Amino acid sequence: MIKKNISLKNYCSYRTGGKAEYFACPEYNDQLVDVLRYAKENSLPLTILGTGYNVLISDYGVKGLVLSTRCLNRQTDIDGDFVYTGAGEVLDTVIMKCIKAGLGGIENMSGIPGSVGGAVSMNAGAFGTEVKDVAFSIDMCSLDGDLSLIMAEDAGFGYRSADNLEGIVTGLRMRLKPENSDELLASRKEILAKRNEKQPLDFPSCGSVFKRPEGNYAGTLIEKCGLKGYQIGGAQVAEKHANFIINKGGATSSDIYNLIKHVQETVFKETGVQLDKEVRFIGF
Ligand SMILES: Cc1cc2nc3c(=O)[nH]c(=O)nc-3n(C[C@H](O)[C@H](O)[C@H](O)COP(=O)(O)OP(=O)(O)OC[C@H]3O[C@@H](n4cnc5c(N)ncnc54)[C@H](O)[C@@H]3O)c2cc1C
Repeated sequence: MIKKNISLKNYCSYRTGGKAEYFACPEYNDQLVDVLRYAKENSLPLTILGTGYNVLISDYGVKGLVLSTRCLNRQTDIDGDFVYTGAGEVLDTVIMKCIKAGLGGIENMSGIPGSVGGAVSMNAGAFGTEVKDVAFSIDMCSLDGDLSLIMAEDAGFGYRSADNLEGIVTGLRMRLKPENSDELLASRKEILAKRNEKQPLDFPSCGSVFKRPEGNYAGTLIEKCGLKGYQIGGAQVAEKHANFIINKGGATSSDIYNLIKHVQETVFKETGVQLDKEVRFIGF
């Protein structure tokens, strides 16, 4: 189950980055606990990855064990208004299942790429809805392999963060509202059309690189600084949406990293606003 020297390019949306010294993709909690025990016994530093849609992985790789939860507990069960979904489920597939079952509340998050585990950990959100708005409880596994349940109000959800969740998210329980399936589907279609219209979805990216600064938009500030289309190596500030940095082809993680730094420095120099990154750096 634990592999060595695995290229992480295939495990992140940017399609860049080096190798994981050790890599594991457990499917069930008992396998997860075994992987955690192995890491502990061998004193391997641990890096947690979902499906890699919000990370930039160093070209020099990652020391220790990279644990991806993309395959973990891939199951969704609907019971009345409650939906249980495992960390490895694809968020958008879960949303579609809920819509079909006539359950509303998460349709605004349609089209957010990634796993349920990643969405919980990031408190992902779009169009006014975040994971925290629908979460009821979260199943966790500590780095020592102890399983527990945390109520959503104790998770410390913030803007693209869940500060009190220590360890690995193994599942999410949501409480949704009965609504008309056809209307939910229509809302989903509208959301997907808006995303398609505004986002450069034809190129690898991590979505929004920077968090929204208080009272402003990162994309607007970046555009005002004349950075749209600015390129370092194969990394480019997208023409379609300035808060996206895309891999135009052949980009390295260093290109993307250097472009992120350049954008932060330029925006700070020209506007005084310090852009805080939403993308998570791994191995830097
Ligand atoms: C085109 C595009 C559009 C996007 N649009 C949006 C959007 O509208 N809204 C939004 O919020 N995001 C958006 N994103 C970013 C991304 O889709 C979300 O952050 C998503 O929730 C990441 O899920 P993931 O499984 O890929 O997590 P990863 O990128 O693998 O991980 C993200 C973070 O979560 C941690 N993590 C992942 N899984 C677990 C787990 N099981 N337990 C503990 N920690 C874990 C990782 O350590 C890492 O710090 C977009 C990305 C792209 C590429």
